[in-house]
Amino acid sequence: MSHDHGWKQVGQVKLQDGFSFHPKLSEWLLELTTLKPEMDVTVFEASCGEVNCPVEEVKLTWIIAGAEDKLRLGRGKEKLLKQDVYLAWKKKMMS
Ligand SMILES: [Zn+2]
Repeated sequence: MSHDHGWKQVGQVKLQDGFSFHPKLSEWLLELTTLKPEMDVTVFEASCGEVNCPVEEVKLTWIIAGAEDKLRLGRGKEKLLKQDVYLAWKKKMMS
């Protein structure tokens, strides 16, 4: 059953300060992407309000050179793996 998902903002941090919901995510972003420690990154989660919905997706956004850029990760924010960041960034760079 398909239905629409909206993005809900769940936080914003300076990358060097780390994410409260994940001990390694900021470290991986600094290692695998071109994001800089002083950048503010905003975190969004896909949500539709349905308790049993299996959809879990995260979107990170930041401002670079005056424009918004983003990275989408197909897993819940607490469960993200290093390979999710690696593959999402690789895909983004190829598109
Ligand atoms: Zn849903």
